[in-house]
Amino acid sequence: MEIERILQSQRDFFATQQTKSIAFRKMYLEKLRNLIISNENMLYEAIHKDFGKSKFDTFTTELSFILNDIDYYLKNIKSLAKPKKVSTNLANQLGSSKIYADPLGCILVIGAWNYPYQLSLSPIIAAMAAGNCCILKPSEIAENTMKAMSKIINENFPPEYLYVYEGGIDETTALLQLKFDKIFFTGSTKVGKIVYKAAAEHLTPVVLELGGKSPAIVTKDANLETAAKRIVWGKFLNAGQTCVAPDYLLVEESVQEQFLETLRKYIKDFKYETGSEQYTRIINQRNFQRLIRLIDQEKVYSGGDFNEEKLYIEPTVLNNVDWNDEIMQEEIFGPLLPVISFKNYNIALNAILELEKPLAAYLFTNNSEEKEAFTRKLSFGGGCINDTVMHLSNDHLPFGGVGNSGIGNYHGKYGFEAFSHPKAILEKMTWGEPDIKYPPYSEKKLSWIRKLL
Ligand code: NAD
Repeated sequence: MEIERILQSQRDFFATQQTKSIAFRKMYLEKLRNLIISNENMLYEAIHKDFGKSKFDTFTTELSFILNDIDYYLKNIKSLAKPKKVSTNLANQLGSSKIYADPLGCILVIGAWNYPYQLSLSPIIAAMAAGNCCILKPSEIAENTMKAMSKIINENFPPEYLYVYEGGIDETTALLQLKFDKIFFTGSTKVGKIVYKAAAEHLTPVVLELGGKSPAIVTKDANLETAAKRIVWGKFLNAGQTCVAPDYLLVEESVQEQFLETLRKYIKDFKYETGSEQYTRIINQRNFQRLIRLIDQEKVYSGGDFNEEKLYIEPTVLNNVDWNDEIMQEEIFGPLLPVISFKNYNIALNAILELEKPLAAYLFTNNSEEKEAFTRKLSFGGGCINDTVMHLSNDHLPFGGVGNSGIGNYHGKYGFEAFSHPKAILEKMTWGEPDIKYPPYSEKKLSWIRKLL
């Protein structure tokens, strides 16, 4: 099989040690940056063909992330890769201890379609910075972006170092039979389990970046204007096809009416409407049909309309939703926002605790006790107080899920660490060691050891 041959060539190339040199890593990161910049228009066209994503959104939510990642690693690679000296315990004197960031070897990155460039290339960039060879399998669902990445990379990089393998389920299934040194997967929890099982056959470590139902909570102590603006943006950006989008809204009953009015106002102001440059369409018929089945017309507060031919669904707010409604059973991953009201903040937090741990959670309030309870009580990948989505843009913060929403982290130094093994080395002097640990043992030696340890 062709891909098996490419993986073997990557193993052989890794063994030459070339990818470990900082100069090599920087040269190829710079090359990738230049290729992205010189092919910017092709990248915009491909994603627009796939799901109507605008140039503005593509730059702000995809290309700027990738270019920032490259800059971050170019700037920090030397210090990230430098062996870290740590202290040495008494039993190991005279000695010194260091941790080496050891590249893992050959990495498989499997991407998702919803932010096809960012979710495929950000992990690749971190893996390159950490000194690895990589195979990227982008999502076939965003076919044009997959082809664009394959063109840019396969025409310009040696396949024994970096290679894009195009394909869908069959190709991914075949890839997963092979032995990699790490698999980095972004996608659904369902497929995450398939990847984890296949990886276990080879004891291959994984990072799984999965999804879930991420709540947004608005209490009566929130700045309602700001909350509405930030929730509308975070939810309807990319037509809700964002892994960290607020999935559903819990709003305190006393401000519910006013808050929903403000949501409606911002949806209108932002011109999130069919065919507008701001608004993205649904990726395919399958997802479109799944989403429109979730719209309970009797609960529609605003929106609710759709265009089957063009695959657009209006930003839709559903009010008086019940925890048992179908829309509350699975991640929505589309422009539908169910709203559930609450009277008691703690009971609302408990309801979230009943569900699987989400990838993100958002709280809007100016009340410090509510902030404290949110942070301490709930378990979720990451999130914001008084904003949505933006935590993932800070590369000083780790990004990843917990429980059903994922395993492992990346971004910034966490990305570098995800693709390195912290190799521990203790170096001993060849003189100056007392004999007390060596046989023959004696009571006297034991009493010294007790004192020393
Ligand atoms: P998906 O799980 O359907 O597909 C992801 C990848 O897995 C694709 O490359 C696809 O080709 C491959 N794949 C699909 N079925 C497979 C199978 N049976 N065997 C082997 N490989 C298979 O996910 P998606 O539709 O591309 O993305 C949507 C999901 O991803 C949502 O749940 C979303 O929350 C999640 N997501 C998470 C993050 C994150 O960073 N945590 C980011 C984006 C999306």
